Order: sequence, then structure tokens, then C-alpha cells
Amino acid sequence: MKRKVLGMVLATSMVAATLVGCGGGSEEAAAPAAEAPAAEEEAPAAEAPADDAAEAPAAAAPSGNKVGVAMPTKDLQRWNQDGSNMQAELEAAGYEVDLQYASNDVATQVSQIENMINGGCSALVIASIDGESLTTVLEGAKSAGIPVIAYDRLIMNSDAVSYYATFDNYMVGTKQGQYIVDALDLDNADGPFNMEITGGSPDDNNAKFFYQGAIDVLQPYMDAGKIVVPSGQIEFATVGTPAWSTETAQSRMENILSSNYSDGTNLDIALCSNDSTALGVENALAANYTGNYPVVTGQDCDIANVKNMIDGKQSMSIFKDTRTLASQVVKMVGQIMSGETVEVNDTETYDNGTGVIPSYLCEPVFADVNNYKELLIDSGYYTEADLQ
Ligand code: BGC
Repeated sequence: MKRKVLGMVLATSMVAATLVGCGGGSEEAAAPAAEAPAAEEEAPAAEAPADDAAEAPAAAAPSGNKVGVAMPTKDLQRWNQDGSNMQAELEAAGYEVDLQYASNDVATQVSQIENMINGGCSALVIASIDGESLTTVLEGAKSAGIPVIAYDRLIMNSDAVSYYATFDNYMVGTKQGQYIVDALDLDNADGPFNMEITGGSPDDNNAKFFYQGAIDVLQPYMDAGKIVVPSGQIEFATVGTPAWSTETAQSRMENILSSNYSDGTNLDIALCSNDSTALGVENALAANYTGNYPVVTGQDCDIANVKNMIDGKQSMSIFKDTRTLASQVVKMVGQIMSGETVEVNDTETYDNGTGVIPSYLCEPVFADVNNYKELLIDSGYYTEADLQ
């Protein structure tokens, strides 16, 4: 991961970041790991530009046209958008879709996937609840020759996973970190600034990437004493928020505030990995804090958080245009189903414990009060009325 830091930090310009879309050069990778015929070539090296990428021989295309789409929960706005975008795009491309949400319950998701396998799905697109819990059920997909695309979250410890499509999770973190650096002018200001960290769900592989991306940007300022963490809770293991729960993030922050900030100490930075946790932190600040309002980060541009951004209660969010990810995954499904080579642009970052999963990483951008109209309204993602 570290290898990427410098390039990403340099690339993180607050001006340039208004460009939305999937990452640059792409590569072609051989189709489904689950089905890879002996003659298939390895995916090319990560640095190979698209044009130089070896044309991998087409894999045997799965028959049928039903696609199972397993989403974690309807509780968070983004997954509703992801699910409905996937369904609409797959149907427009002529596929039948079995879309399921699992109420953040692992057993429910496992049985939904079982039903998809037994119900004639020819490909599975899965945003896992717990990336570690699908190994057994996916053995069934592998033996039935059903390719599996891990959607947004990597599915761990399963060699049934053919591809992974996501936003560049590490870059999400570097953009949050860089936003803080720029907002507080950390290169010139002396500090010290007080920071508290609210991480994501420990069972979500993405959460570590978000955390590490942000910490890698902020670490030099922590080492220089410009950023301090009064609670002492810095390690990923101590800042996590199981299930990305707003309530858990809120009660943890209430404790931190009452133990460390009740004497009027200012909190300057609330590094929050995503919007659901940021919302909890914002609720805790509203209830228990009277100091200067901190820089608060987030991710997803959920409506409640964009409203808070407009009201000055959240400084930024990361915009991951779910339409872009859905389109890329639909393209992947099409390439797999027709036995074409599958477009990927990263073949080194995401090892799920059985090997590196060929991935397509879309590029996240930051949104704040200055650019949200262009990013979110002009692009048709939300209407003005949604944000009222
Ligand atoms: C996603 C984030 C989301 C979080 C909570 C992560 O896996 O990448 O966009 O905020 O899950 O649902």
C-alpha cells in the first residue's frame, strides 16, 4: 500500500479533484478465476497500459442470463442506490436480475446467495456484509462454474471470486487526509491540533484501506506534533465502528468528548471514515460539545450528510458515484457472460487470501460546500429538492 502513497498524495489536488470517473489506464484480465480454462493467460502486470495489455483468450461464457445481485442492507442510502443502479443497468442490458438485500445479517446474505446459486443465476455480484463469511457458500458457486464479482467490498478467503470492482479505497483515505491538511494549512500552521479518529467496520476490508490512506497522509504531522490525539485512540483496532453504526460512533464520541474535551478543550479534527459514522460524531458534537467546530470528514455523500455539509456541520465527504461503479460492473458482467476479456486496472493491490483478485478501481473525489452543486446536482445525482 505504501508504494502508492506519494503518487496519490501528489495527485490529490483540491482543484483537480472535481473530476469524476473511473481510474485511468485499464488492463485486460483473463475471465473468471472460477472457470479459468488451462490455456488462459495470467492477468498482465499492473503497470501495463491498456494498449499494451495482452489480449487474454476468451473464457468459456456462462450460459443463461440471470444475474444475482446481493447487497448488504437497505439501511444505508448508498446500497439502495447501488442496488437500483445495478438492477436498472443490468435490465437495460437484457439480463434478468435477482436483487436481494440482507439487513446487514450475514446468515441472511448466505442464504440469499445459496438461493441465487440454486435458482439458476449465471453470475453473482456481491457486496458482502462480512467479507470473511462467504467462503463456504461460494464453494457452491465455484463448483457450479458461476463467476463471482465482489462489489465494492472484497470477499476474503475464497478462490471463487473472479473479479473485484470498487472505488480506490486507499485513495478515499488519502483524500480525507489531504482535505484536513489543506483545511488547516498544516504545512504552515504550528498546531497542535486535536484530532479524534472514527474508523469503519473491522470486518470490512475497505475500512483498513480508508484508515491507512488517511493515516499515511497525516502521520508526518502527527510525528511533528502538529496533530495530537487526546483520547490516545489511534490504532485501527481501537477506532473501529462495528457495522458502520451511527449509534455506536455517536456513543463512542460522546465518551471521548466527556473524558477529554469537557473542560473546554477544542476538538479540531474529526476524521470519520464514512458518512454514517460522521453522522454519529455530528450528533455527539451537537449534544455534548461547546468548543470550536472541528473539520469533519465523511464518505458517500449521503443526503443527510450533504445537508449537514451545507449547514456547516460536516466539512467534506467523498463522492463515489454509484452510477459509475454500477456501469463498470455491468460491463464486467457482459464481458464475462460473452466470454470476452474483462477490463481491469489493478492486478496487485487486493489479495483476498487466495491470491490477488483482478480489480477495477474507480476514482473517488471529494465534495464540500464549494463543489457539491457541480458534483451532485449538475450531474443529476441529486435534485435541489433532495437536499432541502
Ligand atoms: C463502503 C462505503 C460505506 C461503508 C458502509 C464500505 O464498504 O465502501 O462506501 O460507507 O461500507 O456501508
